Amino acid sequence: MIDLHTHTIFSDGELLPSELVRRAKVLGYKAIAITDHADLTNIESLIEAGKKARYLEEGYDITVLAGVELTHVPPKMIAKLAARAKELGADIVVVHGETPVEPVAPLTNLAAVECADVDILAHPGFITEEEARIAASNGIRLEITARLGHNITNGYVAQVARAAGAKLVVDTDTHAPQDLITRERAIQIARGAGLSSQEAEEALINSKDLLSSILKNR
Ligand SMILES: [Zn+2]
Ligand SMILES: [Zn+2]
Repeated sequence: MIDLHTHTIFSDGELLPSELVRRAKVLGYKAIAITDHADLTNIESLIEAGKKARYLEEGYDITVLAGVELTHVPPKMIAKLAARAKELGADIVVVHGETPVEPVAPLTNLAAVECADVDILAHPGFITEEEARIAASNGIRLEITARLGHNITNGYVAQVARAAGAKLVVDTDTHAPQDLITRERAIQIARGAGLSSQEAEEALINSKDLLSSILKNR
């Protein structure tokens, strides 16, 4: 399992990085990205903490990525903050997309897919096909999520991504220990979103490819 979207006590998660990473390792994870909720006020401290969490890589033989999830950031500021995150040494930048279960500002999805510093648009809700095409051409992956609530549009996201040729990834958006999943469960979630077995496998390969390119640039 490669999971590129999780939270710790540094935002609204329940676990310390060490607890999260240890539990992920026990479930068979090869890599996990720590992507706590970030805006202008906490981006530096989160990325500092995330980089420190890489000490767990050696201890538990698992890859730990330092990331952020830009959350409810005004759309016009998303590109600037994403670039700032990369400058500060973030491995990965996720944007909290327009999930139908939160009042995310309109144009958040568009700002995310237009920004080359963004790696994943999380739970993009009713993303338009045009936005998905922009994501495809800019290499930004759209997320199929394990998280209850956000997952109500998984089937729609899968359909639009297929039509637009955008790449999908499967993430957990873990906040609590029971949110972590096995690779088999990730395949089930992808299949449940309407992907074929082959498309589900491809979604997991997309996470692997993204991880490889991140590690090359470290
Ligand atoms: Zn959260
Ligand atoms: Zn999240």
